[in-house]
Amino acid sequence: MHEISVLQKAVDLAEQTALDNQIEKIAYLTLEVGELSGYLPVFFYKYFPIVTEKKPVFEGAELKIISVPGEALCEDCHAMYDVMKNEGVCPKCKSRRKKILGGQQFLVKEIGY
Ligand SMILES: [Zn+2]
Repeated sequence: MHEISVLQKAVDLAEQTALDNQIEKIAYLTLEVGELSGYLPVFFYKYFPIVTEKKPVFEGAELKIISVPGEALCEDCHAMYDVMKNEGVCPKCKSRRKKILGGQQFLVKEIGY
């Protein structure tokens, strides 16, 4: 699964940040995951204990995920809509031509101490 490699990178980044700032314990790690990123939060929750297992700074740390809806702008009628809820089809004019405005991101939002 590709979730494990991006999660590994996020965890490594958080660990390095903690080391750089002489922080001994991370309380939580918040990730922002777009619904159109192709990543499923369920796998991040599943792999989090595995990728943090040998990192003492993560002992007892919690994973938080902010899920961001995929938003699109219809190129025909200019309506904005939620891509997942509408299965990629404009609810107003039924067009599939669209510009994706958001929901494709994967980023480390916050490292809590
Ligand atoms: Zn439309």
